[in-house]
Amino acid sequence: MASDQGKKRVAVIGGGSAGMSCAAALAQHPDKFSVILFEAAAHICGQAASIDIDESKHGASWLNDGVQGGSAIFRHTFGFFRRYGHEPQEVKLQASFGKRRDSFWTNVFPSHLVDELSQEIKKLGRVLKWIKYLLPILGLMPVKILLRLFRFSRDFSNKTVLPLLALPMYPVPSSERETEPEHFDELALCAQADDAKKLLGKHATWREKFILEGVRFYNDITVTHSDSKYFQSIFENRFQMALCADATTPSRKDQVLFATSEPQCRKDGWIGFQPMHFVHSFPSDPDKIEMGFDCTNYQHQFRSNIGEGNPPQEQDRHVFQTIFLNDQEKQLWMIDQIKEDKIIGKKWWHQWGHRWSHYLRVNMHEVACVSGIAAAYRLGATYDSDGFGEFAEDFFSKYLLLAHGVRYKPNKQSRCIGASL
Ligand SMILES: Cc1cc2nc3c(=O)[nH]c(=O)nc-3n(C[C@H](O)[C@H](O)[C@H](O)COP(=O)(O)OP(=O)(O)OC[C@H]3O[C@@H](n4cnc5c(N)ncnc54)[C@H](O)[C@@H]3O)c2cc1C
Repeated sequence: MASDQGKKRVAVIGGGSAGMSCAAALAQHPDKFSVILFEAAAHICGQAASIDIDESKHGASWLNDGVQGGSAIFRHTFGFFRRYGHEPQEVKLQASFGKRRDSFWTNVFPSHLVDELSQEIKKLGRVLKWIKYLLPILGLMPVKILLRLFRFSRDFSNKTVLPLLALPMYPVPSSERETEPEHFDELALCAQADDAKKLLGKHATWREKFILEGVRFYNDITVTHSDSKYFQSIFENRFQMALCADATTPSRKDQVLFATSEPQCRKDGWIGFQPMHFVHSFPSDPDKIEMGFDCTNYQHQFRSNIGEGNPPQEQDRHVFQTIFLNDQEKQLWMIDQIKEDKIIGKKWWHQWGHRWSHYLRVNMHEVACVSGIAAAYRLGATYDSDGFGEFAEDFFSKYLLLAHGVRYKPNKQSRCIGASL
């Protein structure tokens, strides 16, 4: 049914990345759609939000306290940034996994653990090729089972692969207000699965129930703080010769030279070992992890205030974020060790994970954007292939087929314009 001067009235529920992407894709057709976006929280952005911090103390006035970053394959995410005038800032990510010689490794310099597990790392490269081809079958399996199936050792799984899987999270919104009833032709639900299920109630179809019930939620907490002593007690954030394996090849020599250089700020990261992303596995339960970010090293606003070529801020001025996962495993958490007077903020998140019976774990900012665009596409919006590029278009078409069972039809008109330029 079309109304509003021949336009379809669409209600987009949820102003996170998915909802905003959906609304933005629909808004490209002002002749076809009249779009209203509803957000329950006091601000839009959902999990991709920022908070204010004290610039005089920490060297920047704001901080991303949810989504921290994305990889170069996040074409839709960065496409939207550019479309709305925010140039994405590149960062050369330095990661630090584990603590002490037997479990520490990094992407910055050679480590003993990586040397010990080098055969399994090579094997993982071969296995990943198979996984790529057999994605529809193997994608249904949890990573832990996949690793066991291919006979990887527990040490390899717990110390290298599982820490790489950053666990994503969701916040718990709540808002009740009396409003005038409004009528819409279409509804795009871009809220969390459990909220969407509640909203649909008895109107949910079996397919909607199947999808929305296939998601399990966990409660996690992020603590944003400046307790550098706590951070150092959990993670390796300084170069130590004892952690470094022999520089046996020219490329390893270069890595060690880089890691041991006097730390210096660059627009896109740091010279010297200045890690940004940390993972710690609990020795008593090695497949459970605590994650951390040194936001001062990671987020560009701090670096741009420090200035290229300058040394880092003192550790006590750094802003860290520690993520404690799954409150049912609270007994592992060391949250009480963070000094109260160093805490900038605490935030609870409602995190989801797919059960083995469902599809892939897809809780990434990019997938949220693609899911929103896909919802808009299903309602009749065209896909902006020129704006996002070929790689993004291919990803979108696969998502559409996998998640919606719908084949993507390229927008011939925009292709012809592109071809004639
Ligand atoms: C701490 C943290 C760090 C993360 N880091 C990264 C990262 O570095 N890289 C990455 O790729 N991903 C990261 N993620 C995951 C990423 O944030 C999410 O995949 C993505 O932002 C989800 O977007 P969304 O729109 O689906 O959901 P959300 O952002 O949760 O948005 C849903 C919105 O719906 C609203 N809503 C719910 N119910 C209603 C209702 N009834 N009416 C109106 N509005 C409603 C909510 O308030 C919310 O704003 C992180 C997540 C968290 C929590």
